[in-house]
Amino acid sequence: MASSSYSNAPCAACKCLRRKCMPDCVFAPYFPPEEPQKFVNVHKIFGASNVSKLLNEVLPHQREDAVNSLAYEAEARLKDPVYGCVGAISVLQRQVMRLQRELDATNADLIRYACNEMPPQFGARSDTNEQNSGFYFPSQWNNNNDGSHEGGESSSMVSLRDS
Ligand SMILES: [Zn+2]
Repeated sequence: MASSSYSNAPCAACKCLRRKCMPDCVFAPYFPPEEPQKFVNVHKIFGASNVSKLLNEVLPHQREDAVNSLAYEAEARLKDPVYGCVGAISVLQRQVMRLQRELDATNADLIRYACNEMPPQFGARSDTNEQNSGFYFPSQWNNNNDGSHEGGESSSMVSLRDS
């Protein structure tokens, strides 16, 4: 008798609570001795008696999910005592929103650049082709427009040469 109880290591819960792990221990299937921290966290946050009560209220096939949920929340609660896993969720939601905004802005840029490439009359000129290899700036179109009616630009060039 003594040898059989010695060979079966107590579950993490019973070891933590310093009690004898009985064959019908409610914790044993979900708190194996190899994961002592799992029970320590859950016990610290929820209390062993509350966990025991909860496990007895939950159907056997739902107990593993319930324990994993408790363990996850307990770990999050220890890291962030105020918000728990809600804190982690809201951080991830903010990250998703920021990345979505970045993606929208990048897609808008891509559409703008693709549209700027469309007009063929500007692409045909050799000097603009060189510029087209880099980025497209709105000022480039202003320069092209200025080039078509050269009045203002040439007069300013003349005044620069005169001075
Ligand atoms: Zn036990």
